[in-house]
Amino acid sequence: SLAGKVALVTGSTSGIGLAIARALTADGAKVMLNGFGDQSEIDKLKAELGAGHDGADMGDAAAIERMIAHCTEELGAPDILVNNAGIQHVSPVEDFPVDKWNAILAINLSAVFHTTRLALPAMKAKNWGRIINTASAHSLIASPNKSAYVAAKHGVAGFTKTVALEAAKDGITVNCISPGYVWTPLVENQIPDTMKARGLTREQVMNDVLLAAQPTKRFVTPEEVASLALYLCSDGAASITGANLSMDGGWTAA
Ligand code: NAD
Repeated sequence: SLAGKVALVTGSTSGIGLAIARALTADGAKVMLNGFGDQSEIDKLKAELGAGHDGADMGDAAAIERMIAHCTEELGAPDILVNNAGIQHVSPVEDFPVDKWNAILAINLSAVFHTTRLALPAMKAKNWGRIINTASAHSLIASPNKSAYVAAKHGVAGFTKTVALEAAKDGITVNCISPGYVWTPLVENQIPDTMKARGLTREQVMNDVLLAAQPTKRFVTPEEVASLALYLCSDGAASITGANLSMDGGWTAA
């Protein structure tokens, strides 16, 4: 059980992060949520999970520093850090908007550096910690028009391995989970545009575009990702560190 542990989950007002926050809460952890959304929706989530919330923008290093301080003050220093916040932008590299590149690198990659460097000292002091980064199948392979996302996620995979080595003797494991297509608002919101752009039906976009590379022909669920994150927090996973764990329905096996 994670009773007595504090978990900070970035990007947890929606999708995968929210499912992870729910799973950690159900196992007894106190959770600090992070992410954007309607204040009334966030208040409902806080009440449902008995959680705190910090609205720090993961693109802002100073806000991340304030978030770690806020978590430490309100719940305690994070024993479990889940770096999950992420955004996507799709464009050929020669047209890729420079501001989108900078935002994706900041939110998907540099934020992981900032939360990690700020959370590690307290984990080392307790000789226990779990850092779980939501990477992606795109930390292992590429798709066209996703240069910033693929670069950032490959970066997350490399950063994960490095910190795992640095913290290996301190009771801290550092891993990343690499999902294929997960059914979340991030994916669902791409469907209408792709339907319009390619003149396809909703079913065609789902099966022939999104699930084209996923051999199971089924979306991963946020709850499946959460169950792996929960397992990585358990004592049974104490020797799993520096790993990049695929959960992609066979995508990267092909
Ligand atoms: P989502 O859009 O449902 O949720 C994203 C969360 O991040 C939300 O809580 C949002 O408020 C928050 N967020 C966005 N920008 C932020 C910022 N600047 N600062 C703080 N919070 C911010 O997305 P999701 O599909 O659950 O994705 C979560 C993670 O999983 C991302 O890192 C994504 O790259 C990764 N991932 C998703 C899929 C997929 O198919 N959905 C596949 C592989 C990896």
